[in-house]
Amino acid sequence: MNIQNEDREYVAGTYDRFPVTIISGKGSIFTDVDGKNYIDMGSGIGVNIFGACDDEWRRAISEQASKVQHTSNLYYTEPCAKLAKILCEKTGMKKVFFSNSGAEANECAVKTARKYAADTKGSEYFTVITLKNSFHGRTISMLSATGQDKFHQLFQPLTPGFVHAEANNFDDLKRLSEENKTAAIMIECVQGEGGVMALNQEYVKALAQYANENNILLIVDEVQTGNGRTGQLYSYMNFGIKPDIVSTAKGIGGGLPLGATMLGEKVKDTLGKGDHGSTFGGNPIACAGAVSIMSRLDEKLLEGVRDRSKFLFDTFSNSKGIESVTGMGLMIGLKTTKKAREVVEECIKNGVLCLTAKDKVRLLPPLNIPMDLLEKAAEVIKNCCA
Ligand SMILES: *Cc1c(COP(=O)(O)O)cnc(C)c1O
Repeated sequence: MNIQNEDREYVAGTYDRFPVTIISGKGSIFTDVDGKNYIDMGSGIGVNIFGACDDEWRRAISEQASKVQHTSNLYYTEPCAKLAKILCEKTGMKKVFFSNSGAEANECAVKTARKYAADTKGSEYFTVITLKNSFHGRTISMLSATGQDKFHQLFQPLTPGFVHAEANNFDDLKRLSEENKTAAIMIECVQGEGGVMALNQEYVKALAQYANENNILLIVDEVQTGNGRTGQLYSYMNFGIKPDIVSTAKGIGGGLPLGATMLGEKVKDTLGKGDHGSTFGGNPIACAGAVSIMSRLDEKLLEGVRDRSKFLFDTFSNSKGIESVTGMGLMIGLKTTKKAREVVEECIKNGVLCLTAKDKVRLLPPLNIPMDLLEKAAEVIKNCCA
């Protein structure tokens, strides 16, 4: 109780926290201050993709912490270079800019797109088309990019140059791109905060082709969907498209703050010396942890994600109190008859931590959650929805 009171008194009141104080964790289990265990079906919010205190990750960051924790970006460090190489080799992207969060990874994506468009088409080509119901982060510009009115209301004026197309409506996208001098289209292949909604395959393919034919850059925001979450390394790989820019964060650092913006062939040299930067970006400890995470996201691991996904879809389909199951891989939304928050509170009482997204219960468990724990958690969730 003490910690919760102190937090409520001194920490800015931006989070509607659940009454759980976590003091430790191991794998897919969190332990609270009273010694009660919870099965983690959220990974934080899609961050601890190998669970809490994963041994290999812990070793990697501890070793790096004993060498050097920060050098600034004036100098070279091994983990940063190594991670960039792994990301490029695994995706075919050409270069990486590192930052510390999803919002920053998207900021870099948009800065790159605007500069590329200015260089190749003229500085009036600055508009970025995003989708309605999207979420791209909390900076003023990324709120502006986010296609949900509720994020726009409190912080006017927002950054100009963002317009929002109806998701899964190609004509609306085409209309907006003809009405505006467009630098880029930015999408989440599965809208996470928007309620775990996967875009249509044909729509995404058509959009990617249209962007390519019209020299409009395609940015895929893989902050939540990335790093194995959807059963492929990045969600765009489920759609057979090739973005020009991929932003990611959340899971990539395995629990430490890290954002990455991957730049494809067209834009690999768009940002020059002094065009962008970050004090903490590419932090050696965060990158050392990320190397240990990324180098284990192989086909076997991804197959495990798809198997677990199938189990959850099967379990929740036609289950009492669950009206629909949406999403992809281990990114799952449940439309429940009961209010989502009530379901989550009920799950907490029964030792399972889940998330919400809009009116959905959202599940983002660790990618390697053991089957027996997954089965146990699914049973609890099912009962709490019924
Ligand atoms: C979480 C999220 C962000 C913002 O990430 P932060 O690390 O909180 O800045 C951006 N885009 C998507 C799709 C996200 O899910």
